[in-house]
Amino acid sequence: MAEKTLEDLFLDTVKDIYFAERQVLKALPKMARAAQSEELKAAFEKHRDETETHVERLQQVFELLGKPARGKTCEAIQGIIAEGEEITEAFKGSSALDAGLISSAQAVEHYEITRYGTLRTWALQLGMKDAAALFEQTLGEESATDEALSSLANTSSNSRAKTKAA
Ligand code: FE
Ligand code: FE
Repeated sequence: MAEKTLEDLFLDTVKDIYFAERQVLKALPKMARAAQSEELKAAFEKHRDETETHVERLQQVFELLGKPARGKTCEAIQGIIAEGEEITEAFKGSSALDAGLISSAQAVEHYEITRYGTLRTWALQLGMKDAAALFEQTLGEESATDEALSSLANTSSNSRAKTKAA
């Protein structure tokens, strides 16, 4: 077997995040439906639309690589989403539900942030400036989402979570 290179690692990781983004695209509408506050619903819906763009950007990266757009099962994102579903189920109807949904969504964003940070660095090392720019754009949106969720948690969901549902 030929020795594996950074290029192989790069392609594997693009496939990982491509799989992950498509799972997230399916999970976000469910999270929006589950959310109690209108602001949180809106935040999830907005990020669902952005996620569609993230999937498209990854398809552009596959094109730049001359490879078919194909995902590779990412157990990490499956685990993060499964835990989120457990929380949604366990806290349904409770005042802590939104706080739980935000914490799950932030786990997703942090996973994406670590992947895109790595991919941007590797793309630059491999001389793929266009791909690096695409990762950079997505990374900015993932970080902005993470910050927006933090501020939603700080302004409302956490304080509501401390009180019992009326
Ligand atoms: Fe994303
Ligand atoms: Fe995201």
